[in-house]
Amino acid sequence: MQKVTIIGSGFGALTSIHCLRDIGFKGDVTVVSPRAEFVYYPSLIWVPSGLRSGDDLRFDLKPFFRRMGVTHVASEATGLSDDGRTLETTTEEIANDGLIIASGGRFIKKLPGIEHAITPCEGIAAAQQIRDRIRALDGGTIAMGFASNPNEPSSMRGGPIFEFLFGLERQLRREGRRERFHIVFFTPAERPGNRLGPKAVDKLLGAMDQAGIEAHLGHKIKGFSADKVITEGGEIAANLIIFMPGMTGNQWFDNTSLPRSPGGLLQADALCRVPGFERVYVVGDSGSFPGPDWMPKQAHMADLQARAAAKNLIAELAKREPTVSFNVELLCIVDAYDRGMMVWRTDKRNVALPSMRIFHWLKRGFEWWYLRQYR
Ligand SMILES: Cc1cc2nc3c(=O)[nH]c(=O)nc-3n(C[C@H](O)[C@H](O)[C@H](O)COP(=O)(O)OP(=O)(O)OC[C@H]3O[C@@H](n4cnc5c(N)ncnc54)[C@H](O)[C@@H]3O)c2cc1C
Repeated sequence: MQKVTIIGSGFGALTSIHCLRDIGFKGDVTVVSPRAEFVYYPSLIWVPSGLRSGDDLRFDLKPFFRRMGVTHVASEATGLSDDGRTLETTTEEIANDGLIIASGGRFIKKLPGIEHAITPCEGIAAAQQIRDRIRALDGGTIAMGFASNPNEPSSMRGGPIFEFLFGLERQLRREGRRERFHIVFFTPAERPGNRLGPKAVDKLLGAMDQAGIEAHLGHKIKGFSADKVITEGGEIAANLIIFMPGMTGNQWFDNTSLPRSPGGLLQADALCRVPGFERVYVVGDSGSFPGPDWMPKQAHMADLQARAAAKNLIAELAKREPTVSFNVELLCIVDAYDRGMMVWRTDKRNVALPSMRIFHWLKRGFEWWYLRQYR
């Protein structure tokens, strides 16, 4: 019986499982992740306002794994040996005939004083911390920003910070206490959100202006203290700092000889293979893929890459040539509490539709549709 091991139980991993089984892979599938649990990150933006709780976004995967005939090993990958054929984990060594790495990314937390900032995309606990701090504040300045990985600018998470920013602004307005807060958005980029496309950047900057959000753009971030953000262009006094650093590869990659990109991610080719390793694939935030510089680090991309990786791996296991690449597509709704802006980008088109209520409801509808398979 052929054995496939998948590392992670996020978007890329779960879509890989679906696809392997859909195309008829009958062999063993083993998933290695700390918990048999899926966290739906895109809705973390609704935790500060109370629209979603942590429990709404955490899904027990045991029934899904049973349905898919998957063995879950509650463990963490720590290394790789035998040219990729043995995965080392915190609990055991697992042999495979094919490997899909979908263990996500890691935020670069090197700036001095970074412990004073909340990194909202780290998960449910961080989003709940923002919710509790906002509730406790009577007024003051909220500073919110992001940076990228200097060695690989595409390795960053920009969209969600706009969602937290506009969402919080509208939440405070709804609560009737907006006038007691000053909101500052900071980033070293001159044109934040550039990967969404030029039209989207203009719309985002226009929306900040309209909402009375001060934009502190184009200044390198030097660090943080308990009550300020320190940049090369001056300091921002703040009662609450929310900051999304750039992303890099997982720590466990350091224990392997897997090839790395300049930003520390796993190098991949257009078929999601890791060069130099047979039947080792990478999908989602863990990988650095050939393509346009605006290729997003998104769940949608992780899903597209997972489908390609699963099909190619099956082909290789059947001694056929792998041929499937993935489309590069940026598709998202930048939500703002009760409305949202829709952005779509491919190599041929770039559409940024204005902020409307319908897009907020579309995002909620998509959440319901996507999660029905794990409920
Ligand atoms: C607030 C927020 C909003 C977002 N909004 C959107 C959106 O609207 N649309 C969109 O497309 N994308 C969105 N994203 C991005 C999207 O969530 C990520 O791109 C996506 O989660 C990447 O999927 P992945 O499978 O590569 O990694 P992840 O989903 O991060 O999964 C990684 C998995 O690997 C596991 N893991 C980590 N280390 C190890 C290890 N050593 N061993 C074993 N397992 C390990 C983790 O526990 C996890 O199960 C958003 C993200 C955030 C945080």
